[in-house]
Amino acid sequence: MNQNIPIDSTATNGRLIIFSAPSGAGKTTIMRHLLQHLPQLEFSVSACSRPPRPGEVDGRDYHFMSEPDFRARAERGEFVEWEEVYPGHLYGTLWSELHRIWANGHVVAFDVDVKGGLNLKRKFPSSALAVFIMPPSVEALRQRLLARNTETLEKVEMRVRRAELEMAQAPSFDTIVLNDVLEEAQGQALSLVSEWLLGGL
Ligand code: ADP
Ligand code: 5GP
Repeated sequence: MNQNIPIDSTATNGRLIIFSAPSGAGKTTIMRHLLQHLPQLEFSVSACSRPPRPGEVDGRDYHFMSEPDFRARAERGEFVEWEEVYPGHLYGTLWSELHRIWANGHVVAFDVDVKGGLNLKRKFPSSALAVFIMPPSVEALRQRLLARNTETLEKVEMRVRRAELEMAQAPSFDTIVLNDVLEEAQGQALSLVSEWLLGGL
């Protein structure tokens, strides 16, 4: 398959849901809930150039690759979108991943940062549902990142600084889900995605 030729997602009935949020807002947690309840969805495994965290598995959590390998693939046009989310840490979606999921007859489910989410929505304006997960406050976000305990303090602060700019982008998404009480946010996300899958949104 030639990965440089984007396939027409409407011709294949290819559809996508995009969950974006500042790091720590809860998009991964909410996405996991949707994947458990909606068998039509299949998670798009991104490529990234940061090292795996303990417990992360190559091919399941990310396609881990070196920065030179990532940049060479970008040169060859293998990515639908990619960006340097944090200095030296590149993240992106491979065309091969979309082809694989659509060939399975599934809807692609994305968990990407805010800029990536908006880029994807621009690429697939009528076949994608773009959802912004909003934290109750910047301070709550900081506390969640500290409690998750996956980043150094310095990296937590870098993510928090970036979050303020990202939250200003929320109105550009199709819809916003406030993640204050997790169970409520999960329920709201599940009902709006279910409705969209049925063609009601
Ligand atoms: P993201 O994928 O947006 O970076 P995660 O889903 O990893 O965020 O969530 C960040 C942390 O916050 C995790 O430890 C998660 O368990 C926790 N979390 C998610 N939603 C809530 C919530 N509503 N209230 C409190 N903690 C939450
Ligand atoms: P983490 O290092 O915490 O796994 O992810 C850092 C950020 O990169 C998160 O905001 C995550 O959503 C984002 N990200 C993950 N995959 C992609 C992708 O394919 N494209 C873009 N643009 N961002 C991504």
